[in-house]
Amino acid sequence: VIAIKDVICYKDHVVTAASAILKNFTSLYTATALQYLLDEDAIIIGRCNCDEFAMGSSNENSAYGAVKNAADETRVPGGSSGGSAVAVQANMCMLSLGTDTGGSVRQPADFCGIIGLKPGYGSISRYGLIAYASSFDQIGIFGKNTDDVRLLWEIMSQPDERDSTMHQRTRVKRNETVEKKKYKLATFSQAIQHKGLDKEIANTFITTINSLKANDFITDELALELFDYIVPAYYVLTTAEASSNLSRYDGIRYGYNAGEETDLEHFYCKNRSEGFGLEVKRRIMLGTFVLSTGYYDAYFAKAQQIRRLLVDKMEKIFDEYDAIIMPVSPSTAFKLGEKNDPVTTYLADIYTVLANLCGLSAIAIPLFSHSNNMPFGLQVMAKSGDEVTLLEISEMLMQQSITAEVA
Ligand code: GLN
Repeated sequence: VIAIKDVICYKDHVVTAASAILKNFTSLYTATALQYLLDEDAIIIGRCNCDEFAMGSSNENSAYGAVKNAADETRVPGGSSGGSAVAVQANMCMLSLGTDTGGSVRQPADFCGIIGLKPGYGSISRYGLIAYASSFDQIGIFGKNTDDVRLLWEIMSQPDERDSTMHQRTRVKRNETVEKKKYKLATFSQAIQHKGLDKEIANTFITTINSLKANDFITDELALELFDYIVPAYYVLTTAEASSNLSRYDGIRYGYNAGEETDLEHFYCKNRSEGFGLEVKRRIMLGTFVLSTGYYDAYFAKAQQIRRLLVDKMEKIFDEYDAIIMPVSPSTAFKLGEKNDPVTTYLADIYTVLANLCGLSAIAIPLFSHSNNMPFGLQVMAKSGDEVTLLEISEMLMQQSITAEVA
């Protein structure tokens, strides 16, 4: 029994990306990933609220209103796939689909105390997924145990010729295992020492690393000098891609139409001004600006260079290490309405966007409870295509013996 985020197309069902601009729009076809699940007789129980066009970290940017965290209804569930996370958290379904462009599966999973997997870029077809930033977007999975999550990933990661960015590798066989070994894990000093990181989360993370060392893992702390450039690079590149992807919503062929207008330019302007929410408009403007003549080299090209440097760095790390571990979010779920400054909100994506910039597979696993009673966990990242290793490590970490000492 599976729920899906409101950005995944399902033939003859409404899909709106939680936006007024797509009010009552009905899908003309079914997303490949969803079709693979339907072929296996999955029951699609419903469509979940999210941040408009998957832009946000709290599910408060939705035309339908906010989603509440089932563990504490005064708090956000995280975003942008907040509805999909709560649907699993509150046992409304067994598993759900979200999308993760910069953490939108892992961060809500962390805020809701469940598992959130973002497979590597190119692992699951994006055909039939409403695009936010195409070189970052990936369908992800929420669940309560690694076996269920793995099953869904195996089904959905079948090839699809309609998404040319998919891996051409042979499909992982069902129940394929990786050889058990002493895993080598890396972490970054800049991540642990980050000034925005909640003290209790930081202490738990450090204790966990020590406990892992005592439990047959090799863990090393590495330096990532580019750490402070990760979030700016992400927001320059994703808004640029979004400004291009969202230019198709003009109210002429489909979607919101503001009514009579004689002048075409004003017609577009009215449809888009009334149809899009504030955060989406902010990102379209930001993206248009960084792509504009005169600013392209200063922002877009620079951000691309940072992305390249990060990709190279990650490749080097994965030559030596099986996985990277980090916190998922600098805080636990915050209160509804608490955060309204976009820059502060963007900066909180510090731990999740690296995986999307580099196309890595990454997972958030629930392990701990904060003194404010909210859940939080750990993030594990591996090479794209190495999801089996990622899930094996996650399972080991979730076994009580390893983390018991921390609690
Ligand atoms: N918080 C990130 C953002 O607002 C995550 C988006 C996502 O993964 N869809 O861009």
